[in-house]
Amino acid sequence: MELKVFNSLTKTKQAVRPINNTVNFYFCGPTVYWFQHIGNMRAFFVMDSMRRAVKYLGYNINHVMNITDVGHMTSDEDSGEDKMEVASKREHKSPEEIAKFYWDLCHSDMKDLNIEDPEHICPATFVIKEIIDFVQKILDNGYGYITKNGVYFDTSKYPNYGKLGGMNQNEKRFGARIEVDEEKRNPADFVLWVIAKDNHIQKWDSPWGVGYPGWHIECSAIGNKFLGEHIDLHGGGVEHKTVHHENEIAQNYARCGHEVVDIWFHLEHLMFDGGKMSKSKGAIYTLSSLKERGYSPMDLRLFYLSAHYSKPQNFTFDALNSAKESYKNLSRLLLNHKNGTNHIEQSKIDELKQKFSEYVADDVNSPLALSVLWDALKNYPFSVDIYNLALDFDHFLGLRLAEIKPAKLDIPKEIIDLAEERKSARNNKDYATSDLLRDRISELGYIITDKPKNEYELSKK
Ligand code: AMP
Ligand code: ZN
Repeated sequence: MELKVFNSLTKTKQAVRPINNTVNFYFCGPTVYWFQHIGNMRAFFVMDSMRRAVKYLGYNINHVMNITDVGHMTSDEDSGEDKMEVASKREHKSPEEIAKFYWDLCHSDMKDLNIEDPEHICPATFVIKEIIDFVQKILDNGYGYITKNGVYFDTSKYPNYGKLGGMNQNEKRFGARIEVDEEKRNPADFVLWVIAKDNHIQKWDSPWGVGYPGWHIECSAIGNKFLGEHIDLHGGGVEHKTVHHENEIAQNYARCGHEVVDIWFHLEHLMFDGGKMSKSKGAIYTLSSLKERGYSPMDLRLFYLSAHYSKPQNFTFDALNSAKESYKNLSRLLLNHKNGTNHIEQSKIDELKQKFSEYVADDVNSPLALSVLWDALKNYPFSVDIYNLALDFDHFLGLRLAEIKPAKLDIPKEIIDLAEERKSARNNKDYATSDLLRDRISELGYIITDKPKNEYELSKK
């Protein structure tokens, strides 16, 4: 089935049309200077949903995510200080140590949330040579210029500049500066390579002087290195629409002479207390802090799944509690189906799968896809057929359904002793004693179920 995704550039749902059935997918990754909160994690969850949708619908995938470990200023528009340098001073560690520490934490939260690793995860500092080559090509093709502060992109050379963010020529941003640089040709021009001040820590040799890359160029260079000149799907947070992605589009065009990305998609933010969840705007929660409060990563994943990526999602503990309760109910129903003895007609199963796939294919509609799982679990007699269907759905949902096991009961020693005694009786073919012991166990409030090889399972009545 064909995947359709809402393209922020054309403002229409557009079919993904990969060459040779392999979807080239790029997603803007974390800046590793601080903890990633559950707002950031929503972004990576959306990345994962897009990846899983692609695979569920039968395409192959080549997926790239960058790690920003240099050049991201405290303002997205190139002003302020480099976030890595700020963290390095704050924590008295090298930028490399900072990057490793926060990336490892972020990666571990991603794993906990069952977010699959992209085929390529690439830190910006690993591709400085490719970045320099990319900037050189932009200059060679006449889209850049050099000032005493570094190399700039000349936005007046790219007529579509501002289209993604919906800005006309007069509205183009007036930010975009390292510091005020009087040599800049247009206010919206942005930096590709920054000449480093003497006390700057992260710096490399380049044809334009010792310095470091601007933030936006890393994504173009990394995309080009791993995916070439055609990217089917490119995504990120909605705030990237007006600056970062606008700049990526211009850089790609300047280098390649044609548009590189087919579909741009953007996720809306996780909200908290009336605003975007963000470190600078007050309270944030991390996955670890939620785990300390007794929530599991799958509770959070189920919460994320319940909203479409293109809508802001409001975080409240009421909503998370209800996701936790839902995960419990879902687990109970799933186990009932696992042990179910009914047969469901194949045509019914096909119908449910068709519906589920249609929702996934329609701009990755996770809440509606989830509703098909609930329909299957709740409205059909208990059956392994439904259990297997749920496991199939889980390739998209990622709720670790195959790992759901009956909750371990705290069974009193007295009951276990009776069960063991019964096992010996059965081994000795003393079925009369075995039956008496079963009745005794039942009187005490437990059910014993025989399993192959004379094993047994105890459950509460
Ligand atoms: P950063 O590490 O700041 O570059 O952010 C990593 C990713 O998280 C980016 O794609 C941001 O768009 C995204 N992000 C940041 N805050 C939120 C939020 N409250 N909700 C959803 N995504 C967010
Ligand atoms: Zn990016």
